Amino acid sequence: MRIAFRNGRLLTDAGIELDRTLLVSDGRIEAVVVGKVQADREIDLGGYLLVPGYIDAQVNGGGGILFNDSPSVESIAAIARAHRDFGTTGFLPTLISDDLDVVARAMDAVREAIQAGVPGVLGIHIEGPFLNAERRGVHDASKLRELDAGAVKLLSRPHGGVTMVTLAPERTTPGFIRQLADAGVIVSAGHTNATWAQLQPAFAAGLRGFTHLFNAMSPLESREPGAVGAALAHENSWCGLIVDGHHVHPEVMKLALRAKRHDRFMLVSDAMPSVGSPAKNFVLNGRPITVSGNKCLDEEGRLAGADLDMATAVRNAVNMLGLPLPEAVRMASSNPADFLALGDVGRMAPGQLANLVLLDDELRPLETWIRGRSRDVD
Ligand SMILES: [Zn+2]
Repeated sequence: MRIAFRNGRLLTDAGIELDRTLLVSDGRIEAVVVGKVQADREIDLGGYLLVPGYIDAQVNGGGGILFNDSPSVESIAAIARAHRDFGTTGFLPTLISDDLDVVARAMDAVREAIQAGVPGVLGIHIEGPFLNAERRGVHDASKLRELDAGAVKLLSRPHGGVTMVTLAPERTTPGFIRQLADAGVIVSAGHTNATWAQLQPAFAAGLRGFTHLFNAMSPLESREPGAVGAALAHENSWCGLIVDGHHVHPEVMKLALRAKRHDRFMLVSDAMPSVGSPAKNFVLNGRPITVSGNKCLDEEGRLAGADLDMATAVRNAVNMLGLPLPEAVRMASSNPADFLALGDVGRMAPGQLANLVLLDDELRPLETWIRGRSRDVD
C-alpha cells in the first residue's frame, strides 16, 4: 500500500522542506516529491512538522516498568508504548549492571520481541556489569565484574538486533574490545576512570563512543585529559548526552559542542520507569528512588537515571543549548542511527523505514508512525 503524507513541512537531510509530499510504500519511504501523486491513502499533516522518529540508545524503563525487573517481551512492549508517546520510534531497552544470567535472559527477551514484531525495538544496550566501581554511580557494586572470554561469548550472541555494551575500558583488555567489535557489538565507554593513555588502545580496538558524556567518567583535568578529554579530542567517536539540565550543566554541554563535530553527539533519555507513568517512585537494586523536580534520586541524593523523554530532550537541546531545530532532531535520529550502524532508520530518505513523528509548534509529538503504521493500528 502506498501512503501519501501531504500538507506538512518535512525535515529531510536538506533541511526543512515545504510543499513536498512524502510517499511511503510497504512501510518504507519511497520518495519525497513535489506536486500531486497517486496513492492508496492520504494523510493530511495539517501544516505541522514531520521529522524522522527519535532513536533512544538508553532506555532503562518507562510506563512504570524497569527493564531489569522483568526482562520479557511484555515489558519491552510496555516500555516501547510509553516512549512512543514522546516520539521514540526506535530504542534499545537498557539493562543496568546485573548477573550474567539476567544479561542472557534480557538478550533472549529482545530476540523474542524482535521476532514478535514489537514496534520500535532495535536491539539491546547492556550497561555494565563491566564497569569501574569508582565510577559506578547507582550501579550495584556487588554486580560489577571484569569482562572476560565467557562474557565476550555471551555478548556476541546474535539476536536479530543491535547489541550495545557500555564498559570501562580499563577493566578489560583491548583484545576483548576487539573481539566484541569484530562480532558487531557497539562498544561504548562509560562508568569509567580510564586515563587518556588507557583509551587510545581501546579506540584502536574498536571503541565507538561514550555513554552519557561527563557523567560517571574521569573528568578533563590539566595534566590528565581523562575520558571526557579523550572523548572530545577523538574526532570520530560518538557521545551520548542526557540533556535534562540536571546531569550536565548547559554551559558544559555547549563547550563540548564547540569542541567536536555535532554529528557525533546523540541525545539519550536514560529513562527510568517514571517516564510515561503517573507513578513517580520506584525501586532500583532494592533501594527506593524518588522523582523530584524531574530528577530521579536515591536516598543519598545521587542521580539514578533520568525522568526524561526524547521529546523533552530535543526541546531542551533547542532551548538550553541553542541548537537549530534540524540539528537537535538529528541528534535524536540520524546520529544515534549512525552510532548504532543502523542503515535504514533515522532519516527521511528513500529506502528508509517510515519511522516518523509529527510535531506541533512547541515540538510536542502529535502522532508517530513505525514502518508506516500509526500507533492506532499497532
Ligand atoms: Zn549509566
